[in-house]
Amino acid sequence: MAGLTKEQLAKLKRELQHRYLKLQKEVRSELGSSSDQRHISLASTLNDVGDNSVVDMLMDLDATIIDRQVHEMRKIEISLNNLLGNNFGNCIDCSEKIGFDRLMAFPTAQRCITCQNRHEKIYAHESNPTL
Ligand SMILES: [Zn+2]
Repeated sequence: MAGLTKEQLAKLKRELQHRYLKLQKEVRSELGSSSDQRHISLASTLNDVGDNSVVDMLMDLDATIIDRQVHEMRKIEISLNNLLGNNFGNCIDCSEKIGFDRLMAFPTAQRCITCQNRHEKIYAHESNPTL
């Protein structure tokens, strides 16, 4: 379990859920301020954490204003799912521990600092990055 204690995992879970709800609120208020009726009814269906179908619906919408929030919510959902597995807190590149402090600062982090820096360098230098 990547060396994280139950308490640390619980804290991270709370942090992720807290961020998710905050984003959800932002999205709601942005959708709510829209004059588009479809958006308003969609906003009222945003209820449960982990409601993937709603996020899918939002992803399909051409709503660039909420794009960032929805992407972040998606990342949080993935992290919350990973939290239940055995690999949470491990770097996806080198499998080393990401570290509790870094995870508290960036709960959706998937890489350790070393790999993240390398990853960003690669992306900064390549115009057409291949995964
Ligand atoms: Zn790494």
